[in-house]
Amino acid sequence: MARVLIIGAGGVGNVVAKKCAQNHTVFTDILLASRTKSKCDAIVAEIRSSARTAAATIATAQVDADNVPELAALIRAYKPHLVLNVALPYQDLTIMDACLETGVHYLDTANYEPRDVAKFEYSWQWAYQKRFEDKGLMALLGCGFDPGVTNVFTAWMHKHCLENAFALDIVDCNAGNHGKAFATNFNPEINIREITQNGRYWQDGQWVETQPLEIHRPVDYPGVGPRESYLLYHEELESLVKHFPKIRHARFWMTFGPEYIKHLTVLKNVGMTRIDPVDFQGHKVIPLEFLKALLPEPSSLGSGYTGKTCIGVQLHGTKAGSEATHFVYNVCDHAECWQEVQAQAVSYTTGVPAMIGAALMLTGVWKGAGVFNVEQLDPDPFMAALNTWGLPWQELADVQLVPLTAEL
Ligand code: NDP
Repeated sequence: MARVLIIGAGGVGNVVAKKCAQNHTVFTDILLASRTKSKCDAIVAEIRSSARTAAATIATAQVDADNVPELAALIRAYKPHLVLNVALPYQDLTIMDACLETGVHYLDTANYEPRDVAKFEYSWQWAYQKRFEDKGLMALLGCGFDPGVTNVFTAWMHKHCLENAFALDIVDCNAGNHGKAFATNFNPEINIREITQNGRYWQDGQWVETQPLEIHRPVDYPGVGPRESYLLYHEELESLVKHFPKIRHARFWMTFGPEYIKHLTVLKNVGMTRIDPVDFQGHKVIPLEFLKALLPEPSSLGSGYTGKTCIGVQLHGTKAGSEATHFVYNVCDHAECWQEVQAQAVSYTTGVPAMIGAALMLTGVWKGAGVFNVEQLDPDPFMAALNTWGLPWQELADVQLVPLTAEL
């Protein structure tokens, strides 16, 4: 018997709500709350009309997740065991504050970033360690796909495949086609802030910075084929090199098509990706916020989306005394996601792991007091649940998708 409060009713919130509703023996009561209640109501109407989820007990509410007293009042009224945050990274700290105030566990899929600086790092949320520990509460950070499943894949290979892992490459390919000239697969503001930042990778135990999208190379993705992949800084690199200190080299690669790069370059050159306020006819306008209002919502991309994603982790180390490489990955089909939960694969691959992490916490399989990254917990039950809940994974031994000695 567990009550969950889901905050956020965008692309990911839609998937989380539907997967929790499918898993209604664990999630016996669900409240879906967001800034715009009508979006929650539309999701719940679909849940009630599907045979697979009609038995779920689910209600909706309006909440401003920037406002701690409002959040605390909602939590006190509904009394959830866990708050599952799939609003935006800006709301992480207010939702964590409300959980501490009301004595409720917490889970999210993206680390905090301040609105006025395009910078994401774990320092702000790791600083909550003692407060969660003192209250006997658990906060699980970054439980989507990347971060999330990529951290679990890394932990699983450390546990079962390699003795001395020292080189990590995370590869993220979306080979899908949504038919739009330019759109982002998750919140446009957060996505564009991430991609236009400088790149960064871990080399011999130190961060090396690059220009945005400066380093790229083709990667041959299983189930998809070769795609140009760009080196980015991604948040799980920070926690993985902390929790696996023997990793001396860590990189993250993501694919972008030429059309996406062309549009992003023009938007950046004309100032549309700026996050500082600009005076326009007596109003203060933040160009990126205005751009977000023009772009398609991630939740609207699913219908007609074709193709697949392939996201995986390559880990290199030693096995029985010799050097060895392992690659663990998932391939997900956009059209199948649409059929199942009316979502595209990027929302699906984020929402399913969030539901799994919450279920493991609520059933006591994953437990602890304090703030955790996913790789600190036993990967085995999570790996098993991925196969059950729609994200089956596969393993390749002795295949190198990214050469260790890549010219950087
Ligand atoms: P969307 O923009 O589609 O949805 C965001 C939702 O949050 C919307 O429903 C929005 O409400 C709501 N929201 C925003 N501000 C507030 C607020 N102050 N109070 C209450 N609700 C609010 O984004 P996505 O669903 O694509 O992404 C959700 C999260 O998932 C993001 O943090 C993103 O970074 C993360 N993510 C993680 C991934 C991973 O693999 N780990 C991958 C992809 C995404 P409204 O509709 O009114 O705007």
